[in-house]
Amino acid sequence: MPRETVVIAIGGNSILSAREKFSIHQETEHVKESCSRIAEIVQAGYKVVLTHGNGPQVGDILLQQEIAKDRVPQMPLDVCGAQTQGELGYLLQRTLGGMLPGKRVFTMVTQVVVNPRDPGFRKPSKFIGPFYKSMPRSSGGRVYRRDSDRGFRRVVPSPEPLEIVEKAEIRKLVSQGFLVIACGGGGIPVFRTKSGIEGAEAVIDKDLAAVRLAMVVGASTLLMITDVDRVALNYRTPRQRDLDSVTLREAETHMKEGHFPPGSMGPKIEAAIRFIKRGGKRVIITSRELALPALKGEGGTAITR
Ligand code: ADP
Ligand code: MG
Repeated sequence: MPRETVVIAIGGNSILSAREKFSIHQETEHVKESCSRIAEIVQAGYKVVLTHGNGPQVGDILLQQEIAKDRVPQMPLDVCGAQTQGELGYLLQRTLGGMLPGKRVFTMVTQVVVNPRDPGFRKPSKFIGPFYKSMPRSSGGRVYRRDSDRGFRRVVPSPEPLEIVEKAEIRKLVSQGFLVIACGGGGIPVFRTKSGIEGAEAVIDKDLAAVRLAMVVGASTLLMITDVDRVALNYRTPRQRDLDSVTLREAETHMKEGHFPPGSMGPKIEAAIRFIKRGGKRVIITSRELALPALKGEGGTAITR
């Protein structure tokens, strides 16, 4: 039985797909599909620590704040992020707990420290919320950009994750055998100030936050579950070539050549490079269907030293 510790990061887009009409029904169905694959991984003997994205959900909640602001108080982006940790944490905890009797699943509200001078605050880059067919008018501080071939989408600042505030608590729960869900949506971005901790209006990239989480729990493998089976070169061109295994150096070269756009595959490869450089053993990027086979070395894209 493997006793490897694996941090699994599931994509917000594989929970609420951009290609479907959003609803709680869709969301719970996708959570169920993801959880049954994660349950298989746990049953195969891997020690799992779970995190998830929140791009679609946090953007929807932010939009709700703006639409309803004349009726109910508007909440800032960090509070919206906290709400998504509750929403997705609850759905994952409820579903996974039901599939793994005897296993205690615990969602932690997690704060992640960022630097107020991070350049990410001046250059919004993280895609959130619904897709638009044409470019919406930027107003009231809202900024939009094209999200690859999927349409136009709002972007918000995405600073670097520096430190997980609750790292000692996460370590303790993991060592006691809990299946911990932490750093949801990249963690709630916060500043450390002289007077304590303050919320930061941003959304941290969950792939980069997952690297911090993996370091905190001493994981040897970082598994990123998304909506493609493999990472590709020349993605969506006639010359597309899917990758089975890549070394750190090859990943860096492909990255420099521009195969991985910012806001989608770019942060995953950046996360992979960082994790391996900081002593991680391997990174796997694949779909939920191939997650367990990929852990056994039979599918997906593996990035290793
Ligand atoms: P997640 O919510 O899982 O983080 P993202 O949308 O951020 O999902 O990233 C996954 C997406 O990246 C895929 O759906 C795919 O369309 C896109 N993508 C961009 N470049 C590549 C590439 N070179 N290989 C594979 N997928 C790519
Ligand atoms: Mg993403």
